[in-house]
Amino acid sequence: MTRATKRVYFFGSGKADGNAKMKSLLGGKGANLAEMTSLGIPVPPGFTIATSVCADYNKSSRKWPAGLEKEVNENIKKLETAMSAKLSDPAKPLLVSVRSGAAISMPGMMDTVLNLGLNDDVIAGIIAKTGNARFAYDIYRRFIDMFGDVVMGCHHEYFEKVLEAAKRKAKVKDDNKLSAKQLKEVVEQYKVVYKKHVGRMFPQAGGEQLKLAVNAVFDSWNIARAVKYRQLNNITGLIGTAVNVQAMVFGNMGGDCGTGVCFTRNPSTGKKEFYGEFLMNAQGEDVVAGIRTPLPLIKLNKIMPPAYKKLTGMMTRLEKHYKDMQDMEFTIQQKKLYILQTRTGKRTAEAAVKIAVDMVAEKLITTKEAVTRVEPEQLDRLLHPHFDPKAKRSVMTTGLPASPGAAVGQVVFSADTAEQWRDKGKKVILVRIETSPEDIGGMDAAQGILTARGGMTSHAAVVARGMGKCCVAGVSDININYKAKKFAVGKTTIKEGDFISLDGSLGQVIKGQLPTVEPTLSGDFGKFMGICDTVRTMKVRTNADTPGDAKRARQFGAEGIGLCRTEHMFFEGDRIWAVREMILAAEDYDIMGEKISLAETEKEKKEIRKEYAVAKKQFEGALKKLLPYQRKDFTGIFREMAGLPVTVRLLDPPLHEFLPQDAKSQAEMAKRLKVTPKRVKEEVEKLHEFNPMLGHRGCRLAVTYPAIYRMQARAIIEAALAVKKAGKIVLPEIMIPLVGAVSELKFVKAHVQDEIKQVFKEKKSKIKYLLGTMIEVPRAALTADEIATEADFFSFGTNDLTQMTMGFSRDDAGKFLAEYVEHGLYERDPFQTLDQTGVGKLVEMGTKLGRSVRKKLKVGICGEHGGEPESIDFCHRVGMDYVSCSPFRVPIARLSAAKAAL
Ligand code: PEP
Ligand code: MG
Repeated sequence: MTRATKRVYFFGSGKADGNAKMKSLLGGKGANLAEMTSLGIPVPPGFTIATSVCADYNKSSRKWPAGLEKEVNENIKKLETAMSAKLSDPAKPLLVSVRSGAAISMPGMMDTVLNLGLNDDVIAGIIAKTGNARFAYDIYRRFIDMFGDVVMGCHHEYFEKVLEAAKRKAKVKDDNKLSAKQLKEVVEQYKVVYKKHVGRMFPQAGGEQLKLAVNAVFDSWNIARAVKYRQLNNITGLIGTAVNVQAMVFGNMGGDCGTGVCFTRNPSTGKKEFYGEFLMNAQGEDVVAGIRTPLPLIKLNKIMPPAYKKLTGMMTRLEKHYKDMQDMEFTIQQKKLYILQTRTGKRTAEAAVKIAVDMVAEKLITTKEAVTRVEPEQLDRLLHPHFDPKAKRSVMTTGLPASPGAAVGQVVFSADTAEQWRDKGKKVILVRIETSPEDIGGMDAAQGILTARGGMTSHAAVVARGMGKCCVAGVSDININYKAKKFAVGKTTIKEGDFISLDGSLGQVIKGQLPTVEPTLSGDFGKFMGICDTVRTMKVRTNADTPGDAKRARQFGAEGIGLCRTEHMFFEGDRIWAVREMILAAEDYDIMGEKISLAETEKEKKEIRKEYAVAKKQFEGALKKLLPYQRKDFTGIFREMAGLPVTVRLLDPPLHEFLPQDAKSQAEMAKRLKVTPKRVKEEVEKLHEFNPMLGHRGCRLAVTYPAIYRMQARAIIEAALAVKKAGKIVLPEIMIPLVGAVSELKFVKAHVQDEIKQVFKEKKSKIKYLLGTMIEVPRAALTADEIATEADFFSFGTNDLTQMTMGFSRDDAGKFLAEYVEHGLYERDPFQTLDQTGVGKLVEMGTKLGRSVRKKLKVGICGEHGGEPESIDFCHRVGMDYVSCSPFRVPIARLSAAKAAL
């Protein structure tokens, strides 16, 4: 068979048709099973049906492609030879597991069937051979349950009811306390349940069982929870799942058997230690399902030292081979160890950072590889708050610290409610006895997850860790009543809607809402950031308007300020009154020019000129009041950012934003500024604009009132000179907003430069500064070659550029943009992720045009996109010198810039 048409890939007896590189065809699990087999790891033999078959099957309305059956049969023969067993042969029965496995791991999202090949005759054969009837009936009843539920859609609950009744009747608590006879009875009842719900007898032929199970795996590719998982995790471009058919080994054949899950490092903390859980005399599903509480891996060393030694040896070997932390499944059958699976282990954000840093130190990976091991979203989580250590905790109970972090919210008991309440803007904690893949949407909606059952590798724990969500699992002493929507811990009862807090690092369940505090970062975090800095080429600055923000951003590694918005400063303390005074005076002196030209007599003109002088004085007087405030603002910021560039943007918003809009506040303003309320009201009405975002703002304000920008330029330079005088390096960059034409920039720039010249003269001192512009009006990007002749630098204001290019109002589009994304009209919200095809074209063009006339033109971005990973990648590709983002996103930007450079 040629490679192109080969559909089924065998692995066993030290040889494999596939290898680890064939993930897209064999799925992650299949590719790794093949690789491990070739490495000589004891993997039970089997075969993998390629992902392409799943695609063909789904395209041809659930039909097997021609030739597949023959290929599968050939591989079953091979497997029978390898195992010296035969499907459906009572004397030497071959039992297999059937599992899904896509190219990207989707834990628990699709179907698994174990013990396939069992039937009445085989059971009789197993009993005859092993003399262990209990074992035989136990695997048979599990198989009927699993096959019925997963393959034929006969719900697990129906079988569970029978089992519960049997346990009640036998007066035992645990499944493994049922006798062979009792289990045999359970098997018979399971068959009845199966027939009732499926409408057919339970199939006895192994071949038929296999075909149905393979179909179920293919079908599970498109079930709701799998589709949702792919959506939530942005998994696109996969064609389907592979199917892995593998010989069964048994962890439940007796006391010398066991099964478990292990990680080569601690997936919670990243610490280099063997980590995992296992259960003796159990089947794999028991460990994950959380029905019995598993033992920590280290205990295996006491119970079965040779197996522990062999296992840890293989863990070390596989981690070295794959150069990443591995998540493995193992089974011990009558003292013999088998590895059933290995894959890259999911880990918390803390662990991801620690493992990346440690592996570089161990010389296992390069710094470049380390950068690929942490995702920007994970860093985001590390920067999230945790509980205030000083706050008094009313700890109700403690469970397993399954996924770290702090969560506060209102208790809900179902995934649906979690989603509904979240949509109403509420913060919720999802409380479940245990979670299952159906709960994935609710888990995503919740702040944190609390389960009564399950261990560190239970569904809830694994999924929560993957989501970076706080989770406390296995809180065995809470009593959950779904019907009454409440849970009890001792004498305390918590009802739906009550607030609780979860500490995922300590496993605590806390009553009420605990206050959270900002995170402090570990030494590994700093080391990891250092690694990113050696890889990236783009600088990362911050958007900061206060000395405090500047300081914090610098601690996070900001290399300067890319945008200091000055308007917020105008609201602080008493200065808003000077701003308002300035606005009123500006209006007066604005209309004088017109009045003079309309005046008929010289006498009239003279009168108006007098009034004009008064208004001008008032206007300039108000600006003079603002000057010291502004100087102080800039002095503080320059001090914090000493040695690093600081881009200060001159006033941007329309003036009406500084005036009170309601009558009461207008009356207060009139009183304070000694004018009539009517005068204030008139002013507000005059400044009203139908579309202020496209109105009298940015440099347009300075065209009308150059004195405002002059005052700001003076404050910036006076502050810079003062800080310089104190011995610090100051690198001021003055930025003009909303420029659309070079003529505007020229006009405003002349005023700014003139004022600065005056300051230099007065202070008898000079300082180097840059004078640049924002590119945020599409026309500026289109004529960037003209604009660059007058600008030392460009900073793309992609918030406004997106607004004006797409014609979406920044303030209003939120109401309907979600629908655009939902319908796929735009892939992302363009205000969150830069629209590369449209807005991005202008950014690219603007950069190219600008540099065509000024080769070394400094180019950056200061819109919100400057902190968003995909947009940062784009900025790198267009050759920007830096990105600028809010302080908390600085580390994310440093990592994203490093990734972009790879
Ligand atoms: C922008 O438009 O991208 C920008 C940074 O300015 P602002 O958000 O203040 O309009
Ligand atoms: Mg803007």
